[in-house]
Amino acid sequence: MGRLDGKVVVLSAAAQGIGRATAILAAKEGARVIATDVNGELLKELDSVAGIETQVLDVLNKEAVENFAKSIDKIDVLFNCAGFVHHGTLLDCDEKAWDFSFNLNVKSVYTMCKNFVPKFIAQGTGGSVINMASVVSSIKGAPNRFVYGATKAAVIGLTKSLAVDYVQYKIRFNNVCPGTVDTPSLRDRMAAQDDPEQALKDFIARQKLGRLASADEIASLVIYLASDESNFVTGQEFIIDGGWSI
Ligand code: NAD
Repeated sequence: MGRLDGKVVVLSAAAQGIGRATAILAAKEGARVIATDVNGELLKELDSVAGIETQVLDVLNKEAVENFAKSIDKIDVLFNCAGFVHHGTLLDCDEKAWDFSFNLNVKSVYTMCKNFVPKFIAQGTGGSVINMASVVSSIKGAPNRFVYGATKAAVIGLTKSLAVDYVQYKIRFNNVCPGTVDTPSLRDRMAAQDDPEQALKDFIARQKLGRLASADEIASLVIYLASDESNFVTGQEFIIDGGWSI
């Protein structure tokens, strides 16, 4: 028996990192997974995994999200995973960078929920929506994460609002708030630093358990929130940060 037997899981940003790990684990747990990403080439790699169907989707494209939602006849779990980490302070963040981060990290969650919540309501069987936040948010500040922290705090607020408004329909909304996770984009961020080796040491040092998280560890938490094991859990932020925020 899989923990997600009979459930349909839809997720964004499934081509790499946490999204990819979650798609694979959800399929292993018995779900029918509809894995989406803007990067079709990378996403194709999931086509060979039993239980996963792939679909190219740019979550910044409102019309594409609307059409995609129309094509889905049943949904039990929505995992809004897409996001971007802008490196810099207030003074490094021009309006374009601000808008891009808010559009991808926050507005896309609004667009996805706007299109999928009516489906959950119409189905009448409840559901679980998991929104990707970060411990860098309303929970804690981090250097050079000015707009990123602002966007992830907004995701936490948005999630709590949705949780309150739709609790009557048994649709649960929760946030996942990781610390630093070893994913391709983290490797890119380190490579962009003057001293990538030192950047890795610094990322590790701030997490008290003394290492980075793996994408699989974050996926395990998402599976818990997706499954019926968490049926009494809504409106919460789940910190998974190796003790960074202690
Ligand atoms: P990643 O950054 O390595 O990959 C992101 C994926 O998102 C890519 O496959 C990319 O193609 C896709 N994507 C980008 N723009 C998109 C768009 N417009 N529409 C659809 N897909 C798009 O993955 P990651 O590091 O696992 O990050 C995933 C999420 O987890 C993000 O929201 C990120 O902020 C959050 N997060 C990551 C960490 C970390 O340390 N890696 C920590 C906390 C939170």
